[in-house]
Amino acid sequence: MVAWFKKTRKPIASATVEKPSRVPEGLWVKCPGCAQLIYKNDLEQSLNVCPKCAHHFRVTAAERLRALFDEGQYDEHFTNLTSTDPLKFTDTKAYRDRLQKTIQATGMNDACVVATGRMDGLGVVIAAMEYQFIGGSMGVVVGEKITRAIEMAIERRQPAIVISCSGGARMMEGALSLMQMAKVSAALARLDRARLPFVSVLTDPTTGGVTASFAMLGDLNVAEPKALIGFAGPRVIEQTIRQKLPEGFQRSEFLLEHGMLDLVVDRRDMKATLSRALRFMRAETDRAEPQPVADAATAELSR
Ligand SMILES: [Zn+2]
Repeated sequence: MVAWFKKTRKPIASATVEKPSRVPEGLWVKCPGCAQLIYKNDLEQSLNVCPKCAHHFRVTAAERLRALFDEGQYDEHFTNLTSTDPLKFTDTKAYRDRLQKTIQATGMNDACVVATGRMDGLGVVIAAMEYQFIGGSMGVVVGEKITRAIEMAIERRQPAIVISCSGGARMMEGALSLMQMAKVSAALARLDRARLPFVSVLTDPTTGGVTASFAMLGDLNVAEPKALIGFAGPRVIEQTIRQKLPEGFQRSEFLLEHGMLDLVVDRRDMKATLSRALRFMRAETDRAEPQPVADAATAELSR
């Protein structure tokens, strides 16, 4: 009789075990921002920004370039550069093997794509970093490619744009990766002397040596919403200063409010915003004829 009331014990976990999804894999995506299901096609249509809550999904360098260049068309440069593993570095596995595996998985030779083409009709050079390639880390190859992109911009008299998405310097290349900070910064100084604009686009995440060098050196520093941007991670800072960090610390909006950024721009407005800003900076000078003197004088004044 008593046994009638007795509940058979079930393991606690079983109550919360999720039923296997009946939704075909890859057709629907659950948004981490609003927990809603989004049809993958719709998500791609809106450049991988949630149509409901504007959560920005992480995208590849190629997707970013396709979204910025007219008709998604661009020429890629310096694709053959690869790291030589100069330090013969080994951590949990040999850096050489890690590189090999990543090259196979991504079909890229390193964490940066340099591309030229037209953005709203404007000739531009864009270097986009790829997070899937060892956390978008900046080693010798990334530094060299961004430097060459800037030099290419000088040669072509075109503005340079760098889209950062990086965990920072690539520790497997030690001091050599840190030197890239100085190298890219020096190239940017040459770009500045050539009176050409540099726009830095910071995406989630932009940290470490990338933030500490070129990502913050833009004539215009633009970030995507809610991107993590900082030098050291929040945990390290909290441990160092022994204080709780404020809400939203190291996110785009916080940095904008504190004067570290110029703009926070939704990815869907990025192309229009960048081309408008570059036109404002009078960047459309890749026309063949020399600039009239009067024009040059006003350009001088407006700087
Ligand atoms: Zn959402």
